[in-house]
Amino acid sequence: MVRTRKLKSTARFRAGFGKTVKERLRKVEEKSKKRQKCPYCKKLAVKKVSKGIWYCRACKKKFASRNYYLENK
Ligand SMILES: [Zn+2]
Repeated sequence: MVRTRKLKSTARFRAGFGKTVKERLRKVEEKSKKRQKCPYCKKLAVKKVSKGIWYCRACKKKFASRNYYLENK
């Protein structure tokens, strides 16, 4: 499969989506794949289970968030 270098994961969307939209989505996607900081134990152990559901491996809490990534406060 030929992938466009700049678009990475969003290369699956071809026509129909503008370049700016894809780049914005890519940023969100890349951030959501990384481990996030847990709002309960403040450890970087939270992983996304599925859309809107997060799981912390440190304190074993599962929680829902509408966000694509968690804000590190
Ligand atoms: Zn935690």
